[in-house]
Amino acid sequence: MYKNDFPFFKNSSVTYLDNAATTQKPQAVLNKILEYYTNYCSNTHRSNHGDANKATKEFEETRTILKEFINAKDESEIIFTKGVTESLNMVASIFAKEFKTIIISSIEHHSNITPWHMQNRTLHQGLEVVNIKENLEFDFEHFEELLKANPNSFVSITHVSNAFGVKHNIKKIAKLTHKYNSYLMVDGAQSLAHFEIDVQDLDVDFYAISSHKTYGPTGVGALYVKQELLEKLKTYQTGGATINDVNFQRSLMLSSPYKFEAGTQNIADVIAFKEALKYIKNIGYKTIHTIEEEIYSYLHNELKKIENIILYNNVENSIVSKSFNIKDINSEDIGILLDKMHIAVRAGHHCAQPIMKKLNIDGTIRVSIAFYNTKEDIDIFIKALKKAITMLK
Ligand code: PLP
Repeated sequence: MYKNDFPFFKNSSVTYLDNAATTQKPQAVLNKILEYYTNYCSNTHRSNHGDANKATKEFEETRTILKEFINAKDESEIIFTKGVTESLNMVASIFAKEFKTIIISSIEHHSNITPWHMQNRTLHQGLEVVNIKENLEFDFEHFEELLKANPNSFVSITHVSNAFGVKHNIKKIAKLTHKYNSYLMVDGAQSLAHFEIDVQDLDVDFYAISSHKTYGPTGVGALYVKQELLEKLKTYQTGGATINDVNFQRSLMLSSPYKFEAGTQNIADVIAFKEALKYIKNIGYKTIHTIEEEIYSYLHNELKKIENIILYNNVENSIVSKSFNIKDINSEDIGILLDKMHIAVRAGHHCAQPIMKKLNIDGTIRVSIAFYNTKEDIDIFIKALKKAITMLK
């Protein structure tokens, strides 16, 4: 029923089960983008004419709505970025660089691994990696050992694994992190579309958000920074709109968030992102959760019936993304055949090669659902999967 809100499903015959890569966008989001470009296209925070003021107001409204959405204390804690990747790179360069040790986990997306390599950190040389247990859960004992040996560190952990859908207990991770006088950044790319985030309750220091994985436009994200830390952040990029006063001797910066948003921003898409947030709010996380949970366990049960299937995650500790292989069949081959049958899933390493290597596999087939998916989508997928397996046997 919710598919009617998404023009993609009217125009495409594809069974879309690749929501962890990106979600579809509701009509309200698309309307808002068009409205900006057709009715009041102007730059923000600069000119003082009517349309420019309207653009600034709409842009800032997204900040306020996002602030309320994740229960941040103040608008200054919300910095717009291009997405989670930029948020992670930004914090790596303007805050975390100074720390002797960075702690990540072995189930991270490349976006939370490569920024640390760019700082010439390697395993045990400025970079420590928390084990992931056999059931793909976070190893808290190992985490505490690492923190004990490396207090005053910077910890950067994903909330939900994009490759396996495993959800980490961030509140517990934050508590331990702070016990050892360290700071916590959370990669929230796979969270906001599916469950409520309360940054104060989680007590995180940094939280990275992706609009395009949350029914919003691509090229937009946000970085939440705990207010007390804003003053400690170094300058990122500078230029137009970041500056209070400039002469040839010095530049005086504005305060957060403006000092971190250099140059003309992705105005239309930031403005439209709030429509995605409003859309989620209207439906409510309770409804989203109920639908997704039902479809996810249906998917799990249907997959379990397939001969020679290797399932990597269980329903209890994961959400929305199911990763699997079929014994002796290459995941990419299955992906290609599914595509020919108009099923969109992702096959491969899902930008998480280290965890694939740890599991001794090249990749998996990942089916990732959203609340607009139905049991019928799963039936269509399972039928196609069986056909693909028969063809490849
Ligand atoms: N982290 C995780 C866990 C992801 O799934 C992704 C996207 O696939 C990213 C980071 C990168 O996010 P973005 O596309 O917003 O840069």
